[in-house]
Amino acid sequence: MSSLGRALLPFVAVSLGTWIGLGRPAPAAVTLRMHGAARPESSHGEDDPPPPVPARERVPFTFDGDGVSEPAPPWPQSNIDDSTQRAWLLSEGPFHPSNDGRRLVTFTFDDGPSPENEPALLAILDKHKIRAAFFFIGQYLQGEGGRAVEMRECARRIVESGHYVGNHTMHHRLLSALPDADALPEIDASADAIERATGIRPRLFRPPYGALDDRLELALHDRKLELMLWNIDVQDMKRSDPDDVLLRLKQELEYHQGGIVLLHDVHGPSVKAFHKLLTWLESTPWDPIHPERRGWDIVDLAEYMRATAASPQPYASREDLEKARARRAEAVAGGSADQLPVNPLQTSAADPVTAWPSIRAEQ
Ligand SMILES: [Zn+2]
Repeated sequence: MSSLGRALLPFVAVSLGTWIGLGRPAPAAVTLRMHGAARPESSHGEDDPPPPVPARERVPFTFDGDGVSEPAPPWPQSNIDDSTQRAWLLSEGPFHPSNDGRRLVTFTFDDGPSPENEPALLAILDKHKIRAAFFFIGQYLQGEGGRAVEMRECARRIVESGHYVGNHTMHHRLLSALPDADALPEIDASADAIERATGIRPRLFRPPYGALDDRLELALHDRKLELMLWNIDVQDMKRSDPDDVLLRLKQELEYHQGGIVLLHDVHGPSVKAFHKLLTWLESTPWDPIHPERRGWDIVDLAEYMRATAASPQPYASREDLEKARARRAEAVAGGSADQLPVNPLQTSAADPVTAWPSIRAEQ
């Protein structure tokens, strides 16, 4: 075992305890926490306006798949008390304490639904037998106009195609900047709109910009909502070239060795990049017969949560995680980053991520 591994063992033990309910960390202090603060900014800056209603450009894909899979199974029973802590730790990516070679990837699509891109996206998902999770903005599902009707039909097709749906608030506002009187209806009105449109009241919740404070974490807990963040974000909404999106997705996935991927189905280049990414992932599949070979395993969000709960990140709490991020940032700024493994969470320095089929040649 590497010295890093030995150093992390106590944290693994504490974290495992947390996962199975042996010791819930103390509640965090009341401060604004911006998801991903130690990494590049996420796809929307907090000052950005809400995303526009998706444009009517259609991604030119044609598949014969009818888009219908098995219905999504009910969301597994989970300990809602630990939901937020788990979500923050998972925003660092999956942890790989053993050399099982399995690199989990799961896909989430935000800011839709998007009637223009959904036929292509659903066909791609169907063809590759992937169950994704879609986080809807409630306001798109409201109203009597033709566009609202189209949006609701689209949302229903997504559900009927077997995907998970989640709540991404009513108007995509920065919840932590709103008083309760405005923030709570953002959650509840969206849940109502999604339920009216699809018949499903989402269990999953994703805050716009990943921003949440303790007051809102409590509100999610009261509503038995499961916080769902991400660890792979390539700011796809700001990129118009699918190959650019693709390259960055590959880099992030290699760096984190898998994780929860955030993409936007309203953005045509993202759908195209996603399609190409699947070809790349499927070219190095995980093979349980040969665990010594690392490979990608595309799973749905429920399976991802189950699998990562068995191997949680080696931190007892979000505070510990953020301290580790700060240490890493310091090492990078101080020029000693080469003393760190490529990704301190995933591998030892002797087992660098660069052992993967390198994507550098494509740059
Ligand atoms: Zn969003």
